[in-house]
Amino acid sequence: MPCARGGAALLAGLFELIWPRFCLACAERLAAGDGPLGLCARCRTRLAPVDPRRACRGCLSPLPAGRDPLPLCLGCRRQKPPYERAIALWRYRPPATELVRAFKFHRVDHLGEAFAEAAEAAGLLAPLADVDMVVPVPLAWPRLLGRGFNQAERFGRPVARRLGVPLVRALARRGLPGTQAGSTRRERLARAPGSFRTRSPERLLDRHLLLVDDVLTTGATARSAAAALRAAGARAVTVLVVAWTPPGSPPGSP
Ligand SMILES: [Zn+2]
Ligand SMILES: [Zn+2]
Repeated sequence: MPCARGGAALLAGLFELIWPRFCLACAERLAAGDGPLGLCARCRTRLAPVDPRRACRGCLSPLPAGRDPLPLCLGCRRQKPPYERAIALWRYRPPATELVRAFKFHRVDHLGEAFAEAAEAAGLLAPLADVDMVVPVPLAWPRLLGRGFNQAERFGRPVARRLGVPLVRALARRGLPGTQAGSTRRERLARAPGSFRTRSPERLLDRHLLLVDDVLTTGATARSAAAALRAAGARAVTVLVVAWTPPGSPPGSP
């Protein structure tokens, strides 16, 4: 229907004129076709995808390409992750950092949908056909109170819809959490074990769960959450995050 399409394009053009959008990373004015990520064409090319065929399936550190089954790095072989594999869309560096910050702190809600769309377009959801449900990593309640939403859930919900499975809030945080920002890798790893408990564990029995979060840094949160899910009887856990922080990166704000 060319007429309806023309009408929609006209409406989009008018919308841009009245309410222009700006790139979340460089603040350039966005063009009409710049897409839902909120990045200009130049910033989109700076996003660094994490190629699952060239990464440790535990911590996503780079490994030589093309090995099958996906390998574990030396560190992950010594201390095996309680999940099958981790998957990330991008490296946590600009402009992915700006995207995640906008998502977490500035309530750019539609980004959850845009991340899920990007994950699907990158082929990251295709190998997850046997996932039974999506489980978001929960926020500690003081943070939830302050922020008003859990960003992992905002990403997880459109992922679940694309996979045709339910999103289940199967995890809760134990006790009072410490803040993660600025703490060292070692401190985070030490703090994480046993930070989660499961809710309605009967639903998890023998299921393949997709654990979703915004950023994977040390992997400590993912390990702790996956261990709780496995202890509750989950058959397998796969981890999906928007961004992965390479080791040695300056302490970020995830
Ligand atoms: Zn830009
Ligand atoms: Zn590893």
